[in-house]
Amino acid sequence: MSEVEMPVEKHVFEADVAKLLHLMVHSVYSDKNVFLRELISNAADACEKLRYEAIVAPELLGSDAAPRIVLTLDEEKRRLIVEDNGIGMSRDELVESLGTIARSGTRAFMERIEAAQGKEGAQLIGQFGVGFYSVFMVADNVDVVSRRAGSDKAWHWASDGKGSYTVSAVEPADAPPRGTRITLHLKDDANIYTSRWTIERIVKEQSGHVPVPISIIEKPG
Ligand code: ADP
Ligand code: MG
Repeated sequence: MSEVEMPVEKHVFEADVAKLLHLMVHSVYSDKNVFLRELISNAADACEKLRYEAIVAPELLGSDAAPRIVLTLDEEKRRLIVEDNGIGMSRDELVESLGTIARSGTRAFMERIEAAQGKEGAQLIGQFGVGFYSVFMVADNVDVVSRRAGSDKAWHWASDGKGSYTVSAVEPADAPPRGTRITLHLKDDANIYTSRWTIERIVKEQSGHVPVPISIIEKPG
């Protein structure tokens, strides 16, 4: 990161998000692998949104027209990085999308899980598409660095999933030229998500029909 100090804004999660996060973190029975399906589906959606916006604004694609999703495995630092060159998020979009629950599906999920008991409730997590917040099943800290297509500003969202998150501007040089980079600092027991074999298997199982090419890179140890 750059040497210039950027002001950091601290935000508290909307109450329903805090509740959902609590459920995620304590979902010992659920299939944690679904977090990857959710991140890949968001990355693919972002590429699709860009393609759509570029119909009327082709300059958004620049010299980087082919959509892609790159998974970087960093075993040494126990990190998994999911990066796309899709539409990206502005500051306001980061706060709106990753700080609140906009989706009706998630509210329905919360209601069902509240009505359900223990194990049964936890299994619902695997059945519903529970979205971005499922990263906190496997990561104890998450960094999202994003730059919206056509913008020269880049933003960093960070959270430990425990009630609050921060947002700050970052030097464009520290961000993808366009799109979103999500870094998962994996929990002690989530080491397996830096294994190529494991990730390849999960991607094949869950994301076989994603219309954007997915590549896997291993950080040299
Ligand atoms: P959903 O995908 O059903 O809307 P999610 O919880 O998975 O719900 O994601 C919430 C929102 O965050 C998305 O709708 C999108 O606006 C934003 N978002 C998440 N990941 C990305 C990404 N990689 N690129 C752009 N926007 C994203
Ligand atoms: Mg999603």
